[in-house]
Amino acid sequence: MCGIVGYIGKRDAAPILIEGLHRLEYRGYDSAGIALVRGKSLSVFKSKGKVRELERLLPERLKSSTGIAHTRWATHGEPSDRNAHPHVDASGRFAVVHNGIIENSAQLRRQLVANGTQLQSDTDSEVLAHLIAAHPAERLEDSVRAALRLITGTYGIAVLDGERPDTLIVARNGSPVVLGIGDREMYVASDPAALVRHTQSVVHLDDGELAVVHAEGFETFLLDGGPTSKTPATLAWSEESFDKGEFTHFTRKEIAEQPDAVRRTLSGRLEPRFQTTHIGGLELAARELLAVRRVKILGCGSAYISGRLGAQLIEQLARVPADAEPASEFRYRNPVIEADTLYIAVSQSGETFDTLAAVQEIKRKGGRVLGIVNVVGSTIARECGRGMYLHAGPEIAVVSTKTFTCTAVAFALLAVHLGRLRDLSTARGAQLLQALAGLPAQIETILTQEPAIESLAQSIARQQNAYFVGRAASFAIAMEGALKLKEVSYLHAEAYPASELKHGPLALICPEMPTVIIMPRDELFAKNVATIEEIRARKGPTYVVTHAGEPLPVAVDGVIEVPKSEPELDPILLNIPLQLLAYHVALARGSNVDQPRNLAKSVTVE
Ligand code: GLU
Repeated sequence: MCGIVGYIGKRDAAPILIEGLHRLEYRGYDSAGIALVRGKSLSVFKSKGKVRELERLLPERLKSSTGIAHTRWATHGEPSDRNAHPHVDASGRFAVVHNGIIENSAQLRRQLVANGTQLQSDTDSEVLAHLIAAHPAERLEDSVRAALRLITGTYGIAVLDGERPDTLIVARNGSPVVLGIGDREMYVASDPAALVRHTQSVVHLDDGELAVVHAEGFETFLLDGGPTSKTPATLAWSEESFDKGEFTHFTRKEIAEQPDAVRRTLSGRLEPRFQTTHIGGLELAARELLAVRRVKILGCGSAYISGRLGAQLIEQLARVPADAEPASEFRYRNPVIEADTLYIAVSQSGETFDTLAAVQEIKRKGGRVLGIVNVVGSTIARECGRGMYLHAGPEIAVVSTKTFTCTAVAFALLAVHLGRLRDLSTARGAQLLQALAGLPAQIETILTQEPAIESLAQSIARQQNAYFVGRAASFAIAMEGALKLKEVSYLHAEAYPASELKHGPLALICPEMPTVIIMPRDELFAKNVATIEEIRARKGPTYVVTHAGEPLPVAVDGVIEVPKSEPELDPILLNIPLQLLAYHVALARGSNVDQPRNLAKSVTVE
């Protein structure tokens, strides 16, 4: 789930590993550790808390050119020094860092204890170090193989042998591992962010693969078979995109990057000649797309919510029934897979475990899945084999901002494409294309309203709860606004369809319960005005996100206006102020915006 970094080469490993861990901090973690081969033995340092605290433990001089390091996000055993990785076997010869969950660890721990092994931690991961030691072999990879054969569950691992400073072993099953190729030096990481500073040339391991890594190069094998052949890929992201630049938080930087990110999502995909869109990675012929009777979108968290918006776009523009469901729910309910349904999996990282499992379930049952993914070459992208990359650039903050927006734009592109194969007219296609091309500049305009949004945030920050309400597609935006607020500011926020308010939630309206109403100037505007009246009659504060225009026919406590696009695309713009709102409420309440407590960037465990 969390971070792995490894290095083998001619340089000093410790600073490279520590710097790599810092690069992974954005993912959220609770402890950190490092193991280095020095002479013919291992030195291990680990600590609960931040990488900074680990650094304090390290001696001034720590000469070593082979090592592994880890940031942990506890699943088994509380966050503590003892439970931090790397874990070592009883003799201290083998060190292991592990991401993921070993499902049969309780049983393996019992067996190890029965055989006289003293376990040092409460983690599931520690068993791996003991199992490797229990299977001595000429080659380290064979010991690792023997150990992995005994475990069930998910892992990305890196293994070090104190007696073999020239070798690192890594393996993957369900948790990403990438190799970085340097000049007579090799890097290992669970996330390219940790190695982008050193190399752009990478190799992604597939599930069921193991790699033997030396300074001079690497070999890959199937876990229980022969060698595999891998072609290095070039990382699309540069080092600068992993820095905060002039901003104090990645969240704020990524909000600001949206105009450019959306430009990249649109780039090369607008096709004015036929007033449609061109989606290169779709790999489905017009005839196949025409045969689609239904669209089902799967994702988790903001990706799921963007899917709800996507479903609305597809229904409105292509008139194909569409809906979205949390991938985590879908995979466990023995879903009916239909040959004429188009399934779409959404994941920023392309590594979200629940979404990946849903994709695999659909494929196993013969369904077709498109991926909408940001990270090029990620597992879900490869598993789907077709779809759209967002090209939003790396998203470092734990909460999704620019990738939510770019995913919505990707859905709009797909909806226009499907629509133009059906009943969407050329004239309407032309209007939508023009509106899509206009989105980046409109987002820029919204971002200039930050001072007004900030002052509204000050009022909300003083409260303990908030409602977000909207009708139709604006309800998805209300959901995203509420999710963003609770994630970054820890203020309790709930979303409701505005029409549902009087069927229950109105009971809670009082001066301490603010409501944010998302109300474009559309055919439901008057209904939303009535909703505001109902809230005001109960003395609830009301904050409105709407389009610029005539003054509102009702008094409210705050208004944010956004420019108008085409009605189907309006939700994309209405969401932007809610990101800034959540950000400023979080700042006012002093929470850790970029790394909210208890959350991790890409959830690669169940
Ligand atoms: N399950 C392991 C633990 O709790 C690994 C957690 C992680 O992926 O960081 O230590």
